[in-house]
Amino acid sequence: MSYSDYDPACLPDLLPLYYRRLFPFSQYYRWLNYGGVQKNYFQNREFSFTLKDDIYVRYQSFSTQNELEKEMQKMNPYKIDIGAVYSHRPNQHNTVKSGSFQALEKELVFDIDMTDYDDVRTCCSAADICSKCWTLMTIAIHILDRALREDFGFQHLLWVYSGRRGVHCWVCDEAARKLSAAGRSAVAEYLSLVKGGEETVKKVVLTDPIHPFISASLEVVEKYFLEYAVQEQDILGRKECVDKVLALVPEDILFFLNVKQPEKLWKMIKNEAKNKQGTVKKGQHFEKEIMLQYCYPRLDVNVSKGVNHLLKSPFSVHPKTGDYALNEQKGELLRKSGKFSFFKLKHFFFFFFSFC
Ligand SMILES: [Zn+2]
Repeated sequence: MSYSDYDPACLPDLLPLYYRRLFPFSQYYRWLNYGGVQKNYFQNREFSFTLKDDIYVRYQSFSTQNELEKEMQKMNPYKIDIGAVYSHRPNQHNTVKSGSFQALEKELVFDIDMTDYDDVRTCCSAADICSKCWTLMTIAIHILDRALREDFGFQHLLWVYSGRRGVHCWVCDEAARKLSAAGRSAVAEYLSLVKGGEETVKKVVLTDPIHPFISASLEVVEKYFLEYAVQEQDILGRKECVDKVLALVPEDILFFLNVKQPEKLWKMIKNEAKNKQGTVKKGQHFEKEIMLQYCYPRLDVNVSKGVNHLLKSPFSVHPKTGDYALNEQKGELLRKSGKFSFFKLKHFFFFFFSFC
């Protein structure tokens, strides 16, 4: 089954089956209950459902796994979002004195959306993704997973394919769930390297000394850059693409870069960068800045910053593609093994959480 085989009109017929036969309610409840350590942790969690005709219902909450199961099987939501754990039951928020109903905790979440890479993707744009885009997601996962574990000490990370055009990360450690908005912003800012909108030409600027986090991220990017960016995306092939890359190189070396073969040109850019190091201060890391601008994960920081920000739930079907949001790491392992086409596989299987 490919994207073109999926007909959204079939969704009303498929969803009852999905919620009756496939949705992993027990693992889902086990995750969100967090061992029942904190009282009412599951009960005070907000869920929101998107129903047929884009009817959006916020502040749903459930007392037990059974209640959640019954309600989902009754409502057959097209999409499920997970929100914060509140001070009171979200479905009773209207009965609480105004101001006292507050979002207290939530997993620290990250959202990587391929549409944010449109200026550096030559293969696809907007919501389209292909196997080349998967390399970008793989790089993002490797870089952020390492940083969240090694630099911040988090252990319980759940990576999920969002179902359409990106990946989500749910950091589930207690310390992450209790982070304030300011703490979440600080983590998101630490991890953000690519800055500026469409009008910004140079989106990554490195200064000496290079932070160890950036060096570690570059190690990941370097493993993929030649094959992914130079060969597959052909960023040094077509003239308009080459011009975009050369706009990131200091003007005084452009004169030396008059070769047409992409791999040779990249080698020359690297050599010129090496020659420059130690001779001038500014612009000496331009080859690293190019690699990061083309491959470093682009985060939607607003999703990470808010405690009460809703995010599409793992195992929620994406109504436009019919794909599950599923555990990305296992899917990636299978894809990398070369035995399966992940694009085909993800329509048929989903994987249970592995981090608990
Ligand atoms: Zn693509």
